[in-house]
Amino acid sequence: MSGAMALPEGDQDTFLVVGFVCYDLIFTSPHYPEEDSMVRAVDYHKRRGGNASNSCSVLSQLGAKCELLAPMTTDENAQYMQDDLKASNVAFHNCPIYPECMTPFTSIIQSIASGSRTIMHYRPDGFPETNANDFSKLNLSAYKWIHFEGRGLPEPLKMIDIIDAWNAKSKKQIPYSVELEKRAEATKSLISKGDFVFVAKEFARYLGYNDALSALNGLAQQVKPGATIIVPWGEQGAMARCSNGEIVSSKAYSPACIVDTTGAGDTFLAATIFYLSQNKSVAESIDFGNRIAGAKCGMKGYSGIN
Ligand code: ADP
Repeated sequence: MSGAMALPEGDQDTFLVVGFVCYDLIFTSPHYPEEDSMVRAVDYHKRRGGNASNSCSVLSQLGAKCELLAPMTTDENAQYMQDDLKASNVAFHNCPIYPECMTPFTSIIQSIASGSRTIMHYRPDGFPETNANDFSKLNLSAYKWIHFEGRGLPEPLKMIDIIDAWNAKSKKQIPYSVELEKRAEATKSLISKGDFVFVAKEFARYLGYNDALSALNGLAQQVKPGATIIVPWGEQGAMARCSNGEIVSSKAYSPACIVDTTGAGDTFLAATIFYLSQNKSVAESIDFGNRIAGAKCGMKGYSGIN
């Protein structure tokens, strides 16, 4: 396992991750419960969740400066999440706050018998998404990389237009990545965006692809010219189509014992963009992503992942 990466001197600016934060309750069960039955969990823990929030935890563990942009509330669960963000060294000062809302909640059942992970998510009606207006208030010069979780569309498309306009006027160029994960028609609008397009296996299957290579080949004509497509595929590792059309792959690094796979995809993504931002090759970057995500599967949460 690679150790924590110190960013090069003078290159300490921030990763911005735009998306969602919620409150997770994770139960580890001997098997997935039958309907209308009671199962005694063998383990239980609560934590700050949400794809963007998880990726921030990992970036921070890797030694990167990072910031979360996600809607938040002021209730008891929001307080827990904010305390945890502070403890994890993740900035969140630009998050829009909605005192009238309740924090979204997720209950996750991890089955030891099958390795499955079943997620029940509650997002209160009318709970807002980050919007382009929130994004337009940011000082973009602070960021070295911007990642979009890929939700609340079409707002991320407008945010990407803001970055494109900023990049067109600036000497410094901010690369950005998008993730396609949510099974929704609107998510498809992100395929042609992003210098780096991450396609979760969940979404690849939704599009009708049964393996990573088919997804890479099928999406190759739909991304913008020069974009890289990256497809993580659970215990098979990950594959990518580089900007020049070359296909690269990296195997998964299975831990001695699978403990907690919740957030494996978010971990892979964070570790991969961490390496990409240092101009490592796509092959090296997905390999690093697999190493860190594999280590994460062998432990609860993200603390000590590096
Ligand atoms: P998610 O379902 O969280 O979106 P995936 O299942 O596609 O994510 O896994 C993301 C990454 O996590 C994989 O590319 C791999 O590196 C790692 N991973 C997931 N499951 C395992 C496993 N059983 N053993 C080793 N690595 C794994």
